[in-house]
Amino acid sequence: MILFKEGGALQRYLLKKTKKGHQTGFVPTMGALHEGHRRLVLQSRAQTDCTVVSIFVNPTQFNDKVDFEKYPTSIEEDIRMLSATGAQVLFLPSVKEMYPQGTGGLEHYELGFLETILEGKYRPGHFQGVCQVMCRLLKIVNPTLLFMGQKDYQQCLVIRKLIELMELPSKLIIAPTVRESDGLAMSSRNRRLTAQIRKNAPSIYEALLELRENWAKEGMVAKKKALALLKENNFRPDYVEVADAATLETVEQPTGRKQVALIAAYLEDVRLIDNLLIDR
Ligand code: AMP
Repeated sequence: MILFKEGGALQRYLLKKTKKGHQTGFVPTMGALHEGHRRLVLQSRAQTDCTVVSIFVNPTQFNDKVDFEKYPTSIEEDIRMLSATGAQVLFLPSVKEMYPQGTGGLEHYELGFLETILEGKYRPGHFQGVCQVMCRLLKIVNPTLLFMGQKDYQQCLVIRKLIELMELPSKLIIAPTVRESDGLAMSSRNRRLTAQIRKNAPSIYEALLELRENWAKEGMVAKKKALALLKENNFRPDYVEVADAATLETVEQPTGRKQVALIAAYLEDVRLIDNLLIDR
């Protein structure tokens, strides 16, 4: 695995590969890697010739300073895992490399409705930060295929929109959420859960399963029950919603279109998100 710290050097390296007809797969991450990230790398390896992984804890997407400061890192383990998984390239830029002019007064993306709801509502400015970093990364790596996880459902829709807005040539592949054996969606932030409170964490998945199960017959009552289950297990929910899977407009009953149930909730000071698709 080759490690790059400078975007220019990586771009030149990948351009040579592209000229030879190689297809690039890209897995952007913030590090503290787990099995969910590893599966994205494996999928990219299976579908492309050269897999590039980036590790960059992007300051501009954190609306909460404490969350940024406490974001877990494990760079040496990450490098070992990526190397063993067969990623060909690791991009490890500094903040200065990504934002040479600083992180203030950056460009604004017209994301419209998508950034006013759910994560956008509870984390103001978050998706602007995600787009600021992803636009830079995509311009450097210019991947044929971009691999992202369904766990961050709204983020996937935002990036699909960014690709459209910027007329980028990359195709987004959304990979299924990888879970622990008790159902908890894997997340770098899970490392911050104390052993005591970790026991309650799978309730977020149980709440989603029950909501999906009861949605057709109970509608909003099913949503209330999911909220109650979370609260019984010491979660402080930001939202429990069912939304149109394509637009993310929230709905109050089944509509005959594909829908998605989404939850964001705090366990102590750790904010967890998860979702499940509800098929018609
Ligand atoms: P992060 O490092 O949390 O920014 O995540 C990097 C990528 O990994 C994003 O596309 C995430 O959606 C994806 N990802 C994170 N957790 C999981 C998971 N449990 N299953 C599948 N993909 C995931």
